[in-house]
Amino acid sequence: MITYEEALRLIEKHVEPLGKCEARLEDMFGAYLAEDVVATMPSPQFDNSAVDGYGVRANDLAAASSEAPKELKLVTAIAAGAPSDLQIESGQAVKIFTGARVPTSCQAVVMREYCREENGNVLIECTTQPGENIRRQGEEYRKGETVLHAGIKVTPPVVSLLASLGHVRFPIFEKPRVALVVTGDELVEPGHPLKEGQIYNSNAYGLTAALNALGIKECTSFIARDTREQTSECFKKALEQSDLVISSGGVSVGDHDYVKETLEALGAKTIFWRIAIKPGKPVYFGVLETGGKRKYIFGLPGNPVSVLVTFHQIVKPAIKKMAGGAFSASRSVRLKTGARLKKRPGRVDFVRGTLMREENGDSAAIPTRGQESHMLSGLAKADALLHFASEAEQLEPGDPVDLTLINWAD
Ligand code: AMP
Ligand code: MG
Repeated sequence: MITYEEALRLIEKHVEPLGKCEARLEDMFGAYLAEDVVATMPSPQFDNSAVDGYGVRANDLAAASSEAPKELKLVTAIAAGAPSDLQIESGQAVKIFTGARVPTSCQAVVMREYCREENGNVLIECTTQPGENIRRQGEEYRKGETVLHAGIKVTPPVVSLLASLGHVRFPIFEKPRVALVVTGDELVEPGHPLKEGQIYNSNAYGLTAALNALGIKECTSFIARDTREQTSECFKKALEQSDLVISSGGVSVGDHDYVKETLEALGAKTIFWRIAIKPGKPVYFGVLETGGKRKYIFGLPGNPVSVLVTFHQIVKPAIKKMAGGAFSASRSVRLKTGARLKKRPGRVDFVRGTLMREENGDSAAIPTRGQESHMLSGLAKADALLHFASEAEQLEPGDPVDLTLINWAD
C-alpha cells in the first residue's frame, strides 16, 4: 500500500498531455491553451480616456477650484470609436467619453463630475496632473509580449483576452475521451424496478456528472456483470474507444473482484493498487500501451462515496494533466477542526465537512452526518474534505487541519 502523496507522484510521472487542436473561442471554455498567447497589438491599443469627462491641457487648471472654476472653450466632442487627431490649444477643452481616443494635445481628462457646461464652454472646478484618467497605449502589455503561457485554463477572462486580440480560434489541448465501466451483479439502472438484493447504479451517473463538470461532455458507460468474461469484454470495448477508462467496483479482494486481474490479462501495466486513504483504499491505476497510444485506467472502489472522493482527489489531477494543465492535487488550505474526530492510525481519512464561520471570525470545518463510504448524503452536503493525517488518531475542536475545498469544476 502506498501513501496518497506517492500515488499522486506516480500519476504525475506516468500521465502525459494529449494532442493539440484548434478550437473556436465559443467552444474552448474549460480547456487548456496549447500555445503561449503573444500580443499581436499593444494593450491598450491607443491612449484613451478612462472616464467620461473633458480633455484639457493640465497647466490651464493650475488655479482651478470649486470657488474659482476655470472656464475653457469646448471645441468638440469625441465619442468611443471616433478618430481624433485634433490639436487643442491652451484655453480649450474637448468633451470625451470612456474608451475614446485621447488626442495627443490633451494632457489629462477631468471627470465629468467636476465640470459643468455653459454657453459652449466648460467650467472645471479642480486641478489635474498630466496623464490623469488616460489609459496609456501599451501600459498593460506591448506588441510581441507573451501575455499568457500555454497550459493556462481557459476561463471567461482568457476567452475575453483572446477575443480582444482579434483571435477567432486558438490552439488548445484535446480533452480525454473517457469510458466508464461499472461492475456488479447487483446493479439496476434507475427507472427500472429493483428485485431483492439489487441496488441502483448510482456511480455511472455521479461519475458522468463529475466528468461533465470538467467539460467532458460525452462518455460511454458499460455495465459489467461479475464474471471474468464480461469484465474483460467491457474493458476491451471501453479501452478501444477512449483515452481514459474509469471503473467502479470489483477492485478489492472479494471473490467477485476481477478488475485488476482482467486489466493485467489485457496487457495493462499496474502502476499502483491500494493507497493508504479512507475512503478509497483499493484504488488501481494502470497504463496500457496499445497501437502506439497510451491509455490510462483508474479502477475505483464500488462504494459511491469512495468513487467520488477518489475521483476528486486522484482522477481529477490526472485528467487535468491529460488535458494540458499543470499537474496539481486539489488545492488545500489550513483551517480549524470544529469537532472531535477519532480514527485508527495508518491511513489518511478524507473526512467530509462543511465550513462554518465562528463568532471570532475564524473558519472551522465540521464533519457532516453520514461519514461511511456508502452514505452519499454526507458527501452531498459537504463542501470540504478534511485531511485527517495518516498517523493521527484524534483531532480536538480548534486543532489545525489541512482541507481540500470540494471543487468539481477545476
Ligand atoms: P465492490 O467493490 O464491487 O465490492 O462494491 C462495493 C460496494 O459498492 C457494494 O456495496 C456495491 O453494491 C456498491 N456498488 C458497486 N458498484 C456500484 C454502482 N455502480 N452504484 C452504486 N453502488 C455500487
Ligand atoms: Mg462488486
